[in-house]
Amino acid sequence: MNAPQVPAWAASTYDFASWTDATNLIGGTWQLPLESHGSLGVINPRHGKAIAQVHMAGAADVDAAVKAAKAAQPAWADLPIRERAAVFYKLRELMERDVERLSWLVSHENGKTYAEAKAEVLKSIECVEFGCSLPNLAAGSELQVSRGVTCRLEYAPVGVVAGVSPFNFPLMVPLWMLPQAIVGGNAFILKPSEQTPLSMIALGELFREAGLPDGIFNVVQGGREAVEALCDHPGIGAFGFVGSTRVAKLVYGRSAMAGKRSLCLGGAKNHLIVVPDADLEVAAGNIVASFTGCAGQRCMAAANLLAVGDVEHILDEIKKRAAALTLGEDLGAINSAESITRIRGYIDGAVSDGATLAVDGRGSKVNDSGYWLGPTIIDGVTKEQVAAREEIFGPVLSIIRVKDLSEALAIENGNPYGNASAVYTTSGEVARKVMGNAEAGMCGVNVGVPVPREPFGFGGWNDSKFGAGNITGWDGFRFWTRVRKVTTKWALQADQNWMN
Ligand code: NAD
Repeated sequence: MNAPQVPAWAASTYDFASWTDATNLIGGTWQLPLESHGSLGVINPRHGKAIAQVHMAGAADVDAAVKAAKAAQPAWADLPIRERAAVFYKLRELMERDVERLSWLVSHENGKTYAEAKAEVLKSIECVEFGCSLPNLAAGSELQVSRGVTCRLEYAPVGVVAGVSPFNFPLMVPLWMLPQAIVGGNAFILKPSEQTPLSMIALGELFREAGLPDGIFNVVQGGREAVEALCDHPGIGAFGFVGSTRVAKLVYGRSAMAGKRSLCLGGAKNHLIVVPDADLEVAAGNIVASFTGCAGQRCMAAANLLAVGDVEHILDEIKKRAAALTLGEDLGAINSAESITRIRGYIDGAVSDGATLAVDGRGSKVNDSGYWLGPTIIDGVTKEQVAAREEIFGPVLSIIRVKDLSEALAIENGNPYGNASAVYTTSGEVARKVMGNAEAGMCGVNVGVPVPREPFGFGGWNDSKFGAGNITGWDGFRFWTRVRKVTTKWALQADQNWMN
């Protein structure tokens, strides 16, 4: 079947625009699935209308992608790492050139605002920069371990590897994985979210322009069926996943059972702690940005605010600022109608449970067809209530009042997730206590979205991550490469006369 055209990405406003169909990129060719598994509309959440169709792939497409990747990978791995990284230098240039159109594309397929989408693209460029730096970091080491004998360590690619990404960062999350894996000498098969498959089409074209050989970056579209085929395929050596905890747990087990190294990042329920000595400006601004940014659809977003003691003045400011945000400008749309139903269900449930709505975003909308929900603050939530325990994944903050820091930490650590944690304080002692005791992989002091920047690695603890290490930074390079140890005896001729 013929490959669909990849169009010029023309939109530069929030107006409705249609894009190309999303198909598979296998061995350098865009192609429809080998067998039909149906198609889905790619919905622009601001309009609630389809901007493209995604053609769902299955096991046969995964197999074709593995074959193409396997054929291309040895020649790629043979190149010196500097030459592999050079493609990412070029990619960085192209992404800078295309910042605007990439940002609009992310905004259109995901629903976040242009400014948020641009921040995503800029962060994606940082991930590419880390890939560019790898030749300076990835030197192995050598040591004379006994007389005339050395041991050398070097990083070898795994071969063919795969990654699966969620809807909320359609460009950035794939670029958490791709630079380290590809500069590391692997060929990659990426399965983007079926809700946001278009950014990977743009990236596929940019990789081509940057000079990446065909077959080194492959895209398989689809959902569960394609993911299961990636988990099971014996030709894939490493599997990275980012998405909800339910699915992360399933695919971690499944891919590990198939003999792969596996790293699967899951969902979150992030707790922020505010104490009476916190700076009003910093705390209020930061906490509002944390729970409303990307309409709360970030695994690092604030979910529960643990209000310690008398912090009423800070809570009032948070409520005032959240209520003043403009939907559609300060925060974008929710990804789907199902998500609106889910989030509203949590808010309604909290009210039935006896909490009060300090800010109610349920009636807010920008138009009738898009998926909208304004910032919502639920006050007086107790730790037992559903809103306090489950991942809501929307612009909703639950305030839980506690008497002291120990009670706050006990509630936070009673939660099974462990992605992010933050404390707002001007006291070093308070900061030290929270950072030393919070069960979370990524912690912030007066920082509401404590994303570790490269070369530090991104990854939570507990039910927010399955597998060892982190997915970005140097840990990411270690995940996508294997360490080879070479022991050499150099002294075989030492007792021969001509050596002496
Ligand atoms: P999701 O788990 O529904 O989907 C993620 C990926 O898994 C998609 O590509 C999807 O096609 C695939 N998938 C869905 N169901 C599957 C199944 N049964 N078997 C195999 N594959 C399946 O997640 P989402 O709704 O796209 O994204 C939101 C979730 O991702 C939230 O829970 C959020 O916290 C989490 N997230 C986590 C991080 C992190 O770094 N920890 C980052 C971003 C998002």
